[in-house]
Amino acid sequence: MTQEAQQETRSTCPYCGTGCGVVISHSAGRITGVRGDPDHPANFGKLCTKGANLHRTVQLDGRLVQPLWRAQRAAPLQALGWDEALDKAARRFAETIRAHGPDSVAFYISGQLLTEDYYVFNKLARTLVGTNNIDSNSRLCMSSAVAGYKATLGMDSVPCCYEDIDLADLLFISGANTAFAHPILFRRIEAAREARPELKIVVVDPRRTDTAAMADLHLQIAPGTDLYLFAAMLQVLAAEGLVDAAYIADHTEGYAVLLEQLGSVTPEVAAGVCQVPAADIVQAARWFGQAAAPLSFWCQGLNQSGHGTANSAALIHLHLATGKIGRPGMGPFSLTGQPNAMGGREVGAMANLLSAHRDLKNPADRAEMADFWGIPALPTQPGLMAVQLFEAVRRGAIKALWIACTNPAHSLPDQQRVREALAACPFVVVQDAFADTDTCAHADLLLPAATWGEKDGTVTNSERRITRVRAAVAAPGEARADWRIARDFALALGRQLDRPGAARLFDFPSPAAVFAEHARSTRGRDLDIAGLDYARLEQGAVQWPYAAGQANGKARLYSDGVFPTASGRARFAPIELRLNGEAPDAAYPLRLNTGRLRDQWHGMSRTGRSGRLYAHEAEARLQMHPDDMAQRGLADGDLVRLSSRRGDTVLPVAASNELAPGSVYLAMHWGSANLSHPGANLHTLQELDPVSGQPALKHAAVQITPVSLP
Ligand code: SF4
Repeated sequence: MTQEAQQETRSTCPYCGTGCGVVISHSAGRITGVRGDPDHPANFGKLCTKGANLHRTVQLDGRLVQPLWRAQRAAPLQALGWDEALDKAARRFAETIRAHGPDSVAFYISGQLLTEDYYVFNKLARTLVGTNNIDSNSRLCMSSAVAGYKATLGMDSVPCCYEDIDLADLLFISGANTAFAHPILFRRIEAAREARPELKIVVVDPRRTDTAAMADLHLQIAPGTDLYLFAAMLQVLAAEGLVDAAYIADHTEGYAVLLEQLGSVTPEVAAGVCQVPAADIVQAARWFGQAAAPLSFWCQGLNQSGHGTANSAALIHLHLATGKIGRPGMGPFSLTGQPNAMGGREVGAMANLLSAHRDLKNPADRAEMADFWGIPALPTQPGLMAVQLFEAVRRGAIKALWIACTNPAHSLPDQQRVREALAACPFVVVQDAFADTDTCAHADLLLPAATWGEKDGTVTNSERRITRVRAAVAAPGEARADWRIARDFALALGRQLDRPGAARLFDFPSPAAVFAEHARSTRGRDLDIAGLDYARLEQGAVQWPYAAGQANGKARLYSDGVFPTASGRARFAPIELRLNGEAPDAAYPLRLNTGRLRDQWHGMSRTGRSGRLYAHEAEARLQMHPDDMAQRGLADGDLVRLSSRRGDTVLPVAASNELAPGSVYLAMHWGSANLSHPGANLHTLQELDPVSGQPALKHAAVQITPVSLP
């Protein structure tokens, strides 16, 4: 291979919401290496283990390279051409729509998709099909943060930026193991601590994670008790004069009502519920109130809860009460799990959202988008959110389902119900890069999608920064970009439904054309990116908003203390104090917590292909406190049966002092319908946040018993 044959292409890491820039090396149509992009402001050249091994996960093994079809679920898959595949799909969708109405079909897509992919799917569902039944696996990771932002600040937007890590004097991290889930941000936190030893770090987490281990104060609260902690902190701030009365008076509403509502939650009361010393709660509140610039991070620990919206709002309240928002180094900063959960929110490709942060429930917003797309009206019936959507499949209300770039048979709670729903669904299309996920086993039609390194578009990271994703090599076989598959299906469906207007609606020759239309749809909105196009993004990633004529993106929001609510004031939202839904009892006395490992990603369809990424953790192991193990006569490595009201799993146990007694922990990555360990989500339940619809994936009541081998 000659030196001249080597090429480099800038792109973005496809894993977590940090959104690190990468430089892909490739030669003769093959990806040969990857390094951090030194010019990207999310990572300045650094990569974590997952990112640095990306090129080792790119291989043909397990890839879907041509459309595959089967006439019956048990029949073998047969190859067919794209035209025939799309015609078959369009015919079945059109028949279903004609016979049962547009709400009898649904689309379940993914935070792994690029913004352009999301945009075309969203437009397809809302315009051509006429349903709001489009939801994303982002429902599982950040929808409670979205609802929390809207309830308090008036819109779904992260007001901070990564640079705030370098400027904060207190980092308050709740329900987020950044050391594992956002490693490059964690390195920035470590660097900030090294540069400024006076920087205080408080971590709220039921486990003593690697993140908690570096904290000045670790509040190891009982799982699901966050609301009591934040309520007590608010009381301490008020009682000790650490609130900013002028900011509250000038820029917020509802403070006095909320304070009175939560008045009974003293630090002593919260200490009893949270099972941490009252003095630690007081200390955390004092540090928060006394800090010149407190920066709060949160992630799944708060979001994946039956009261995730309230968790998010209660944390944001601490910033509003102290006026610590909108200035350098401070603010409430929700970390997005997936690489483009933010982009999906921006195009509104979720059941309860609408394009460019418009409100599906608002007739004026619906009319505005209908006018923009040139159709008479948008559907009004609310769409089904992820868990509800699969329940509707299960009871037969959804008869044709399109799944793109996600593995719901693995990742949704109470997965056996989801697998049964998929098995019973009359028609399932799965569009994916990989052929071997549990969801693929339920497909009538499999469509091969391009993946990282093979497709063009954009993503938005956790700090609202829009970055280009670029193809370095061609997709293998007949695999196509996701936006193109959605467009080609829309054109085929338009023919089947006899809608000649489909050709105009989906006249997208390229991802740049899709982005241009999306950008136009944001004009005048809070996330206005009408000034942005691919040419501007060639100069570097940009934070939104970026309106026409704007010279730079905006690093921070709400600097002027004006919020996008009817009154212009931020809101202290009412908080209903709640705990986890399924309490431990005599039959299931332990609390199961689920989460991520440092070197694996989701259902391992990509990371599972690199041997190096097993060096950190080689197999699925149930972590358990040594006292709980001793009570059951268990030794490290013994096989145990993990039982819940939803099923049994057999896997090895590992002693862990990270956990408090009474809790066990299981990573969500491993598992398959064909194994004795079908996955952590066999045990999680369909407890949903009442506002966001996000499931409480981090909690289930379980029992552990030894397994004796014959
Ligand atoms: Fe990729 Fe996240 Fe690691 Fe950055 S921190 S390299 S985005 S996985």
